[in-house]
Amino acid sequence: MAKSKGTTAIGYVNKHGNRVLQKTDQPGNDHLQVVYVLQCPKGHEFGSNGSDIWLRKCPTCQGGADGLAY
Ligand SMILES: [Zn+2]
Repeated sequence: MAKSKGTTAIGYVNKHGNRVLQKTDQPGNDHLQVVYVLQCPKGHEFGSNGSDIWLRKCPTCQGGADGLAY
């Protein structure tokens, strides 16, 4: 986890309150990334590149980009 500063750890919560629920085997749309499932404070679940977790906003209630398929 050290190389990613812990932002891809299960249970990590970013500055927008979105929590990492699980890692998937789905390739993300950024270089060498896989999709992680995040959950916002209101309970919406969406997919994110591992590299984007720290700044990811919920696409449903925080105006973020559309979630990735997983
Ligand atoms: Zn939401």
